[in-house]
Amino acid sequence: MECIFCKLEKGEIPAEIVFENEKVLVFKDINPQAKVHLLVIPRQHILNVNGLEPENAQIMGEMFLAAKKAAELAGIAESGYRTLINSGPDAGQEVDHIHIHILGGEKLTLLN
Ligand code: 5GP
Ligand code: ZN
Repeated sequence: MECIFCKLEKGEIPAEIVFENEKVLVFKDINPQAKVHLLVIPRQHILNVNGLEPENAQIMGEMFLAAKKAAELAGIAESGYRTLINSGPDAGQEVDHIHIHILGGEKLTLLN
């Protein structure tokens, strides 16, 4: 079965996209854990941090630049936000396509 974030990237399932370019896509999380909860994905399929190879160094930079842009667009750049990546079962990774969570818009509690 195909990866849901690859399907989303192809437009096969709908998403509220807030920013996109040639390399990455930023969209609203379907089940937000904060007032602002966005996800940054690369257009190319990468499993998680364990799936990164040296040739993916550039795309990780693109993802964080997109996170910065999306935080500005969402109006949370100054108030602050958290960026995080879950890799594997103990982190609770649900979707096996690397993504940066952007959480903000309110005072966040500690991790866990
Ligand atoms: P993970 O637990 O893998 O780090 O995070 C996966 C995130 O993707 C979750 O926060 C979940 O709510 C979100 N998610 C799962 N399926 C969809 C979907 O079809 N559309 C959107 N927009 N978000 C999704
Ligand atoms: Zn994928």
